[in-house]
Amino acid sequence: MATKGVFRVECPHCGESFDADFWTVVRGDRDHDVKELILSGEFDLLVCPHCEEMVQHEEPFLYIDPTRDILAFVMPESYEAEKDKWIARMQADYEPVRAALTAGQGLTGEPLYFFGLGQLAAMLESDKDREEETEVMEFMAREDGLQLLPVKPAAARELDLPFTIPVKAGLAGRTAALSAAEALYAKNDALPRLKKLVDFLKSPGSETVPFLKKK
Ligand SMILES: [Zn+2]
Repeated sequence: MATKGVFRVECPHCGESFDADFWTVVRGDRDHDVKELILSGEFDLLVCPHCEEMVQHEEPFLYIDPTRDILAFVMPESYEAEKDKWIARMQADYEPVRAALTAGQGLTGEPLYFFGLGQLAAMLESDKDREEETEVMEFMAREDGLQLLPVKPAAARELDLPFTIPVKAGLAGRTAALSAAEALYAKNDALPRLKKLVDFLKSPGSETVPFLKKK
């Protein structure tokens, strides 16, 4: 459930003030309508009740999606000028509630800090592309009787990989993952993240795949 707070806003058009509801916590995995508003850029748009003009107003909020390991402090774009100060303040506020927020939720608890809705929306858009590519890859993998192992979402973003990797059932090592990924890529070379997975697994490293989610 999204949590709301009431804030006083001054209309830049007519100068009148009014009270407006803002989301203070958004659950990306549950509040699908709110997530759509973030993606469409309408999340922080209000209508002034006095002059009926559109008013854009940002307030800090927390965006949480345990399924994608996202715990993000989204601050107004204008805070970026004093970035360090605000991150320190958010960290101080977060520390005492960290355990409660992350307990049993699948969150690693490493928060992200965004300035402006645009930064959050860009990450969500790129996750969406990654999800679509992952779904295509998973469909092919299942047809071949392969198993899928989840990748840590933060690592998938950092290395630009799919959210899961294919392996032969019962295996989890680098060699097995590489041969499964190469076989799928040979059938469909329109999957850029699968290609990155192949390249990563080819690079020297231990037999244990480093970015898999622990069970
Ligand atoms: Zn107004």
